[in-house]
Amino acid sequence: MTDHLPERLDLLATADAGRVLHGRMKLASLPRLLPALSSTDGELAVSLQLGKDPDGTRYLRGTIQGEVRLECQRCLEPLVMALDLGFCLGIVRDQASMDALHERYEPVLAGAEPASIADIVTDEVLLALPLVPAHADRRECHEFVRDYLPPEPEERKGPFAVLAELKQKQ
Ligand SMILES: [Zn+2]
Repeated sequence: MTDHLPERLDLLATADAGRVLHGRMKLASLPRLLPALSSTDGELAVSLQLGKDPDGTRYLRGTIQGEVRLECQRCLEPLVMALDLGFCLGIVRDQASMDALHERYEPVLAGAEPASIADIVTDEVLLALPLVPAHADRRECHEFVRDYLPPEPEERKGPFAVLAELKQKQ
């Protein structure tokens, strides 16, 4: 076990040897992630376990924890999103081994070059980010926008309620 992460890792050889790696990665060191963030401050705690399961599949299991700051698309104010991700990748070297991979694994291709840990972490975080980030509760949104929003849909009367009212008036 080590308390730092190497920049690159030979996935197949490391899975054959069996290893657990822990470390922290600065958000600023993940350039593909940065366009999605409203702040580059902060870091992620990353834990990786590589090994071979009983049927011989080499795997990379991991967790990513931390916080990222996004921009709420409703009020354009910062929005803190807590990340607590778990992933399970099957390490493959070609299309045939990708096709044979058990469905519990997402494939990760081991190319000729050692894999970049930053790339793997970036892909997992990007998958977890919402397409359109917004405060979960619109009362958290910036005041100006909140005051000019239409009422919540559940506060509006459905068409059947309106119809019933009309019938009563007749
Ligand atoms: Zn908002």
